Amino acid sequence: MPSKRFIVITLRHSRGAVIGIVAVLILLTALIIFEPNVIPTQAELTGYTIAIDPGHGGRDSGSAHAGVYEKEITLLLSQAIAKEIQARGGTAVLTRTSDTDLWDYISYEEEIEITKREYKQDLELGRTIDSRDRGIALGTRFPPTYRLGLRARLLIAQQHNADLLLSIHTNHYRAESAKGAVTLYQPHSHESQQLAVAIQRYLKDLLPGRADPGIKPDNFFILRRSEIPAVLLEIGFVSNKGDREFMLSEEGQKAIAEAVVNGIEDYFSYISTLASY
Ligand SMILES: [Zn+2]
Repeated sequence: MPSKRFIVITLRHSRGAVIGIVAVLILLTALIIFEPNVIPTQAELTGYTIAIDPGHGGRDSGSAHAGVYEKEITLLLSQAIAKEIQARGGTAVLTRTSDTDLWDYISYEEEIEITKREYKQDLELGRTIDSRDRGIALGTRFPPTYRLGLRARLLIAQQHNADLLLSIHTNHYRAESAKGAVTLYQPHSHESQQLAVAIQRYLKDLLPGRADPGIKPDNFFILRRSEIPAVLLEIGFVSNKGDREFMLSEEGQKAIAEAVVNGIEDYFSYISTLASY
């Protein structure tokens, strides 16, 4: 039989325990309710592979302005984007990591064979035929050398089972006033268009231009021939001082990478919403 004094102490202790349990329950409820804020958004891209293509390279410098070559900026920007993808749990594949043009990746004969297959498929699907593709497929035209390098980029993305392809470029114009990001997409692909919309939404805040919304369909080889959703990002104008300095700065590269990857995340959540219906 416990003494009166002992009982009082036990009661006090059990009251403390009850308060403790209630506090823990409140905390757990709060954790469940605010779960999205508690779990870090680090793994948004887990399971996705994104191919990043630094435009130009090697013998192909792209455009040049004030001693800066497009091929150099595209590599820096692509590396920043790849780093950001990896930081968010995704896999990034770069089509080149050095100053190379990839013109030796496949032979002319291989390119002609691939073009023949694609031409046949275009006819079957009733797609608009590009006159250059027709010429190469029918043997009246020889593939230009740079086309081998572009094909290499598509094959690298394909070999890594990439879900998306982003080709990174910069713009150039004779008037210094032209500026801002432009995103090009595959005319035949709704996914590509959605990806362009999602990325451009963020990019245009960083690099505003005159064109709004700054997205357009384009029949450029890498877009025309990519079997996965692909976009070509003209990040900014090397011929514009503001754009050029922003793209060359470390803060600019980080901000651009975040913008692009925010767009990619939005695109994937849009696609998964569609898939759940
Ligand atoms: Zn370019």
